[in-house]
Amino acid sequence: MLASKLYSPTLREIPADAVVKSHQYMLKAGMMRKLANGLYTFLPLAFRSIYKLETIIREEMAAIECQEILMPIVQPAEIWQQSGRWDVYGQEMFRLKDRHDHEYCLGPTHEEMVTTLVHLDISSYKQLPVSVFQMQNKYRDEKRPRFGLMRSREFIMKDAYTFDIDEAGLEKQYQLMYDAYTRIFTRCGLHFRQVLADSGAIGGSGSHEFEVIADSGEADIVYCENCDFAANVEAVLPNEIKGNIKSDKEKECVATPDKSTIEAVCDFLHIPVEQSIKAVVYKLDDKIVLALVRGDHEVNEVRLQNLYAAVDISMATGEDLESVGLVGGYISPVGLARNEKLDIIVDTTVMSMEDACCGGNAPDTHYIHVNPKRDFGDVRVETIRIIDQNDVCPKCGGIIHLKKGIEVGQVFKLGTKYSEKLGCTYLDNTGKSHPMVMGCYGIGVTRTIAASIEQNHDDDGIIWPVAIAPYEVVIVPANNKDEEVMAVAGELYEALQDNADNVVLDDRNERAGIKFKDADLIGYPLRVTVGKKWKESGVVEIKLRRTGEVIEVAKEDCQEKVKSLLQEFHEKNL
Ligand code: ATP
Ligand code: MG
Repeated sequence: MLASKLYSPTLREIPADAVVKSHQYMLKAGMMRKLANGLYTFLPLAFRSIYKLETIIREEMAAIECQEILMPIVQPAEIWQQSGRWDVYGQEMFRLKDRHDHEYCLGPTHEEMVTTLVHLDISSYKQLPVSVFQMQNKYRDEKRPRFGLMRSREFIMKDAYTFDIDEAGLEKQYQLMYDAYTRIFTRCGLHFRQVLADSGAIGGSGSHEFEVIADSGEADIVYCENCDFAANVEAVLPNEIKGNIKSDKEKECVATPDKSTIEAVCDFLHIPVEQSIKAVVYKLDDKIVLALVRGDHEVNEVRLQNLYAAVDISMATGEDLESVGLVGGYISPVGLARNEKLDIIVDTTVMSMEDACCGGNAPDTHYIHVNPKRDFGDVRVETIRIIDQNDVCPKCGGIIHLKKGIEVGQVFKLGTKYSEKLGCTYLDNTGKSHPMVMGCYGIGVTRTIAASIEQNHDDDGIIWPVAIAPYEVVIVPANNKDEEVMAVAGELYEALQDNADNVVLDDRNERAGIKFKDADLIGYPLRVTVGKKWKESGVVEIKLRRTGEVIEVAKEDCQEKVKSLLQEFHEKNL
């Protein structure tokens, strides 16, 4: 490809709403354009990377005999009503009506549709297992579309589904898919971890996420230094911390004027935050839930949502608080009772405190010397806090690390939730009917491209792993006016091109400095420069984008050297 013909309009200014590097660099390097919030056009450079990733995925799916299909994006409401998800999917679903007033959605995922498909076609144990996937645009009206391709409203997902006769069959498929995903992300040169995950709204009995380790990630993951424990914090039940303060003091109500935050109260009363109890009030569907954790802990909202089987979770509003007689900033379970409208749930760690401070349930007051076992009435007790850096590994007691992750894939053991609801059954060898046992498996294709950039960049631009680089090599003639230089660059271009269409010749009539800057920004793994050195001594320069290393070779040896470097990158997943 000639750079003069490449449709990649680079930008000087980065749009203000682009805050993460992948978003900034993809716009700046002319890889994509924004149409509206969370909607992007992929220009050739982005599309080539996506295409390469899709090719890797297709190869790995073929290796486990998962067959590619393509289902409609537009899905009738009926199948979602049958599974029970039409009403629970909420505002994230794009809904539409046809001219006859029939309701549809734009597929956010395809469990319902694939189950309907297999239900019609497969009826005997002899036809199982079935393993299919598709590569397709998905639609989710995200509450906060942001970070470019990381959280968009239209994105490419590879989604796979398996159908088996029993749990053992599912286990086998799950492992095949888990291993294939591991190979896919390894081949992409990503530093990632497989972590235990919450199966959330989709349901099912087990799940893992594939998390690319990057500070800009929206997921919090925890892993152990000693054992194989690794999980999304949402899915972890941390150990209960036994209180070590013994006290038999009676609780006492004290004035705390204008002190409505934990920090302000603890500061004012001269007590450590670990001796306070924090109240957070949620609205879980129609129920108001008062959740209590130790002052320095955070509530695990996913856990809470699961415990109450709630579709929606949000912070309670002032009005919600009023409706159950609570005073914001000074809330505690002391003197409160659970009722139809209000539930009270207390973290296990709070229940072993003996001399704690909590809200006074009246403006400008707090209780001190509170012993929850003695002073709280009837409350629900569960582990509802998020694991933090002061915790130990819940599996082996070892030292844990917390990191940010970008979820690029997730695998689920679905079981029979969808097959039962949608009547997807098979007959066994005695003629008895059973629901098929399902698994589902997703990869965020476009998010993976963004994640790669989040993990591989510097101040100058993108550093592509060779497997998903839009082009592998750029050839830069340093001076377009020098016909000899141009001729040699053209010669190298022809030689390196070698039918593979992986080389760009920067033939633009620009200064060398600008071409170098663009080469770094776009992130070609190798840059070959033909310039002064060639004129002086017949030498061309090969620059490795990842390390900055410059290798000088005689022009005659350039082709071979570039080939061997690329081969090494491919073999080592660099
Ligand atoms: P998240 O928790 O980040 O919203 P999810 O768990 O809802 O994602 P899944 O239903 O598991 O997503 O979808 C499979 C994959 O699709 C995810 O692992 C992720 O890589 C990708 N994905 C999901 N939502 C988006 C989005 N809004 N933009 C880009 N990719 C997405
Ligand atoms: Mg997920």
